[in-house]
Amino acid sequence: MNEQSAIDELYALIRFVYAKRHRLAEKIIAAFEEALADKTDPGERQAVIAHWLDFYQAHKYRKLMRRRRSTDRERMLPCSACGYPISQRHHLWDIATHGENRVTVQLCANCHELHHLMYNAVARDSVYSQKLIRHLLAARQPPPEAVIRIFGWLRAILSYEVESGWLESYKLSDLWIEDRLGWRAYLNSLSTAAGA
Ligand SMILES: [Zn+2]
Ligand SMILES: [Zn+2]
Repeated sequence: MNEQSAIDELYALIRFVYAKRHRLAEKIIAAFEEALADKTDPGERQAVIAHWLDFYQAHKYRKLMRRRRSTDRERMLPCSACGYPISQRHHLWDIATHGENRVTVQLCANCHELHHLMYNAVARDSVYSQKLIRHLLAARQPPPEAVIRIFGWLRAILSYEVESGWLESYKLSDLWIEDRLGWRAYLNSLSTAAGA
């Protein structure tokens, strides 16, 4: 990268990090220009630019990772899975990979927990989550329609992650999922209950 494009990248980073504090961003850029003007040795200039780039890249990363607080209005939206009147914002695209993003769904505390348990049971092969899921499903909680909806989202997320190359593709197979969640047994227990 030549010096000018490194500087352009740095300015773009600073303006991104201080997107809502325009004047501060320009002040920082001016300070940087002043610091750089003192240096004539190309190696030294490069080191100064690299230092600032590192610093603002880390800043940008932290900004992206920052979870936005739910608004009151969002909290009062009903759970998208079961309809419970208050909900939490769940990131279908997880923050660790994607940063704060808009791919979210509102879930009540119980459906939210179930979604995380299901994801960890299948994607992370967490035995602990698998145990809790079986316990919940045996207790018919959350209600079956909600569980089936959450399962649909889970599959969509898993296939997106497999397609993107983040998750091993065998974790999307029916057999794998069945083993991790006891899914077919659950569906069978529902139809038996309905038939009885
Ligand atoms: Zn719910
Ligand atoms: Zn969540």
